Amino acid sequence: MRKPILIANWKMNGSLHANQALLVRMLARLRPFRKAVDMAICPPFPYLFQVRDLLGYTGISLGAQNASAATSGAHTGEVSATMLQEMGCRYVLVGHSERRSLYHESNGVVGARFRQVRSAGMTPVLCVGETLEEREQGMAMAAIESQLQAVIDETGMAGLSDSVIAYEPVWAIGTGRTATPEQVSDTHRAIRQFLERHEAGLGESTRIVYGGSVKAGNAAELFQSSQVDGGLIGGASLQADEFSDIGTALANTVAEPDSECDTLD
Ligand code: PEP
Repeated sequence: MRKPILIANWKMNGSLHANQALLVRMLARLRPFRKAVDMAICPPFPYLFQVRDLLGYTGISLGAQNASAATSGAHTGEVSATMLQEMGCRYVLVGHSERRSLYHESNGVVGARFRQVRSAGMTPVLCVGETLEEREQGMAMAAIESQLQAVIDETGMAGLSDSVIAYEPVWAIGTGRTATPEQVSDTHRAIRQFLERHEAGLGESTRIVYGGSVKAGNAAELFQSSQVDGGLIGGASLQADEFSDIGTALANTVAEPDSECDTLD
């Protein structure tokens, strides 16, 4: 049984003041679901310390938005995986489409970043997805498979086990345009089949989440399929009520909210 996971990607947004206000409200509303759903917040690097303190013992994890492909040394502007691990990060996004397109991160670089995250003992959240052109040409899975293969080339199949895969069609990220539940379900199934072809059991055990303009209003239908193990949420994770409602929709796919949690901590 794969435990659902909900990941907030704040991208390059926030301030000390805004983060505090957002998290205080969000954490109170997410509290009932923390046993049923794994949750992580990925703020910009400078706020990791602040967010780590605010998350405290809530059971909600800290995550980062990227990690260097190098271990240490002369890489100005980069942040190493061991630094992130030391800061308390449990998850690290790797290969987000904004990194691939705006900062020209190749499949090879993404694979090297993924390996660093693994070596530092954290869970990589590998973002894969096709462009609109690739989808229209019937090449969506070919694009996704080459993104997965680059990681396999770098780490072998062992690297992918216990990682999280985020299916994020590039044309749906931050655009307000969402993939249909059928497109999401079919693509997740195809990713599982790809993994299964490489290693028996891996397709079944790997958590695959969807990302791309998920909102409170469409979360329930996107999470309905048993192929979908949760969400990677960008814009909507900057609004406490919107993100909590997405959490509610995800928790509703597995269990009733855990009312006992309210008495913990
Ligand atoms: C993302 O940043 O990974 C993302 C899915 O963004 P949005 O939800 O804003 O489309």
